[in-house]
Amino acid sequence: MLIVFENPLLKTIITEIRDKNADKRKMRENLRLCGFLSTYEILSREMEFEVKKVQTPLSYAKGITPVSKILQVVVLRAAIPFAEGGTNLIDKLGIDCSIGFVDAKRIQKEGNLNFDVEITSVKIPDWKNRIVIIYDPMLATGSTLIDVIKRIKGKKIIINSIISAPYGVEKIEKEFKDVSIYTVELDKEGKYNGLNSKGYIVPGLGDCGDRALGEF
Ligand code: URA
Repeated sequence: MLIVFENPLLKTIITEIRDKNADKRKMRENLRLCGFLSTYEILSREMEFEVKKVQTPLSYAKGITPVSKILQVVVLRAAIPFAEGGTNLIDKLGIDCSIGFVDAKRIQKEGNLNFDVEITSVKIPDWKNRIVIIYDPMLATGSTLIDVIKRIKGKKIIINSIISAPYGVEKIEKEFKDVSIYTVELDKEGKYNGLNSKGYIVPGLGDCGDRALGEF
């Protein structure tokens, strides 16, 4: 299931980071902010809460408290500042959260969008009974995410991205019926169902990792 956020603050942040003149600091700040706000939207919809009675200075009030536990999975490297924003919110709310990392790289073949994905490192703590939120800011071909999802069994699997292309969204939806994909923008301009021949999202924002962390 694809859910495109209708939050104008999230759309404002994406407008800023799409700008080719945004520098690394600006990119990271906005990715953190975006991670904070998108995680807020996801938790509001996906978490379970239980009733909690609280004593005020005057009486008792009926409130709620979260019961779900989270596993964040960070797809290196562009997701680092994005996921950091999410962790910040989760920790402020006192939610039990573990964090895993997957280091993946595409084996680029010009003109072939079905890239092989080389996963060089996987460090994921126990996911039993946890809602899994995978942070990957650019959902392009979907190849990396498919490989990552196959390795995890959570209570529920959620993808948190900022810009997605229909190409990758459709591939993931075909493979996994019960994964929820959240995104701020769905970009359709690229010739190949939203992508160009090198697998970049158009209009997108270019290479998110290079722009936020530096080219190498
Ligand atoms: N990864 C990026 O950083 N940008 C894209 O457009 C696609 C994948």
